[in-house]
Amino acid sequence: MKTTDAIETIGYRPTWVEINLAALEHNYKQIRKAISRATGIIACVKADAYGHGAGPVSQRLVSLGVEYLAVASIDEAITLRKEGIKTPILVLGMVLPAYVSPLFKYGITQTVCTWDLAEAISKHAAYFKKQAKIHIKVDTGMGRLGFAYNEAYDLVREIARLKFLKIEGIFTHFPSADSDTAFTRHQVDIFNKLITRLEKSGIRIPMHHAANSMGILHYKNSHLNFVRPGLILYGLYPKKGLKIDLRPVMSLKTKVVFTKRVSKGEGISYGHSYHTKKDTTIVILPIGYGDGYPRSLSNKADVLIAGQRFKISGKVCMDHILVDVGDARVGTGDEAILIGASASERIGAEELARLIDTISYEIVCGIGGRVPRIYPDQGVV
Ligand SMILES: *Cc1c(COP(=O)(O)O)cnc(C)c1O
Repeated sequence: MKTTDAIETIGYRPTWVEINLAALEHNYKQIRKAISRATGIIACVKADAYGHGAGPVSQRLVSLGVEYLAVASIDEAITLRKEGIKTPILVLGMVLPAYVSPLFKYGITQTVCTWDLAEAISKHAAYFKKQAKIHIKVDTGMGRLGFAYNEAYDLVREIARLKFLKIEGIFTHFPSADSDTAFTRHQVDIFNKLITRLEKSGIRIPMHHAANSMGILHYKNSHLNFVRPGLILYGLYPKKGLKIDLRPVMSLKTKVVFTKRVSKGEGISYGHSYHTKKDTTIVILPIGYGDGYPRSLSNKADVLIAGQRFKISGKVCMDHILVDVGDARVGTGDEAILIGASASERIGAEELARLIDTISYEIVCGIGGRVPRIYPDQGVV
């Protein structure tokens, strides 16, 4: 990147996220290979596409023929519509019955799991004389949103009578696909039973979906006619040892902005939780927990500088990270990679997550809006 480009695209602080849309495309195609031709994809691009930038990510997926996108809120759906995305969008989260009018203005599909919401959408639909598409969510064991499994049959039948509503989809979600196979199989089983029972009573719902990333990779009979991948699109594995070739999409990079020689025994950063063990070089990176890089990674995570691993030294600050590089010849302006690959080394979001007992989802979603996203293979967004 030339200096002028860098300033135009990422600003005056050399800290940025690089999104590899070619890797996204690769992962998408791997998912297509893992499902049957008759199965469609609802790509989860909520939380700004897990921190990857919902606009550019959705645009690439749409160009690849994705059938549906899923977001958490009406606001996220509106943002995509304003960026020109015309593909159907499903809102996975709830909306209060008073706030349903944007569904009509922007042509958004809402998840429904209360009678009140179904009724509110139906009333609006009657007023606008437009049929509204909804997906019904059924709780088969997640214990979060959804019609209770035992009540779902009766409620779906009642909702099906609302003539301005079109029940386009019915779905459920897995709480433990990575850890409890028997439970997940049971969920698929009872969900299928519900669909069959509804069909026998004359209610045919076109879209049936249950599988998240883990469902796609580990439970073929959960694919139904649509799947809802999130994590694996971004090249992250929900579990070790899964047989799919994924490429990580996000890299988090910065550059050394300051270096200094420090004598043996000096305390470094807030609280002096790190002391130099010998005379050494300390370098400063302009990124911190103010960018969503977790403070709990202090003295734990590695960074890559010139293809070599170095551990973060002392506390991660709001805007800075310090690294003891020993006698390595590291200078101002050298690139440092916090997530990503350099030479034969790579640091994955999974690695950072393991160090602090969380999941890779939280690491990538957490990288804040202060860090510009750049898309080298499509220009800058
Ligand atoms: C986020 C989400 C998904 C995607 O889950 P991954 O584990 O990231 O594949 C699927 N379904 C629902 C309801 C979700 O909220």
